[in-house]
Amino acid sequence: MRIAEIHVYQMDVPVTRTTYRMSSGPYTSLDSTIVQIVSDAGVSGWGETCPVGPVYAPEHALGARAALQQMAPGMVGAPVTGPREVRRALDRLLNGHNYAKAAIDIAIHDLIGKTYGMRVCDMLGGATTDWVDSYYALSVGEPDEIAEKAAEKFAEGYPRLQAKVGGRPVEKDIETIRKVWEATGCTRLALDGNRSLLARDVLRIGRECADIPFVFEQPCNTMDEIAAIRGQLHHGVYLDENTESINDVLRAISLGICDGFGFKVTRLGGLANLAAVRDICETRAMPHTCDDAWGGDIIAAACVHIGATVQPRLLEGVWIAEPYLDVHYDSENPIRVEKGRIKVPTGPGLGVTPDEGVFGEPVASFG
Ligand SMILES: [Mg+2]
Repeated sequence: MRIAEIHVYQMDVPVTRTTYRMSSGPYTSLDSTIVQIVSDAGVSGWGETCPVGPVYAPEHALGARAALQQMAPGMVGAPVTGPREVRRALDRLLNGHNYAKAAIDIAIHDLIGKTYGMRVCDMLGGATTDWVDSYYALSVGEPDEIAEKAAEKFAEGYPRLQAKVGGRPVEKDIETIRKVWEATGCTRLALDGNRSLLARDVLRIGRECADIPFVFEQPCNTMDEIAAIRGQLHHGVYLDENTESINDVLRAISLGICDGFGFKVTRLGGLANLAAVRDICETRAMPHTCDDAWGGDIIAAACVHIGATVQPRLLEGVWIAEPYLDVHYDSENPIRVEKGRIKVPTGPGLGVTPDEGVFGEPVASFG
């Protein structure tokens, strides 16, 4: 099998159902990039990458499309031997740009699965479950409103809650955490600073909320800042944004600066790389999520497939953007959170096939 054509599409994904606010700001619409890879047998595989605006992380939408246009001409005609060899071919065409390569990696997994009639989760090691747990991300907001939303989502069935904090006086964050805890009693609680907290404020939250069983998720900007206060914290610490490569995960574990991770499929370079860090985490009994930053049914399906392969006691959930969106690419097999859980797709490949014309005309085509 060889790659015959590559098409790149652009889609604005509006945040319609509720506002979404992190320490870096509110989001009303996200710019997603979709990749279609067509084999010489005429089978299509689909991939997606959707950074959360230009300032959340080094990834940005125009960068994804520029990187894809740089790589795509060199991939047309290439043999599809397997995801790892495709990744090596991409690295020979462009240095870095994991998040753009991830879209191709996901599309290649989908293409191989659809060609041979195999689900992506089975290609990645085998599903342990038909449904994966999700978790609900509570935006930065007024403490009473956030606590009310937390109670609603916990009652709906979400087994885990994540509260966004940072970008405002720490007293407000402490009040929010306490009210969420009092309103829910949820013992699977994460406080996600998205890199924004000062070490001083992390220590204060830890001291003033010593009785609340949460984990800090990516509280500070760098691994070094976290390493400096790690010995003074009594809550668990997870890393998210600081893990941009498999080596970052190895480094964090070897330094002993965290107890788990929030993983993003595109930031780490795709499903093959996420499967590698999944195996490293299983070796060291480190819990983690399988998420992405944002996007529609394609990236959501990718997250669910890899999430379904994680040893259940180590899976902290699969976060997808769907609860905030009204957009579905595949009207027959949409990926949805139902009572805090997501059904693992049953069809071959990702189990998702975008509706004809849903993305409009390609912004670039090769082959
Ligand atoms: Mg996070």
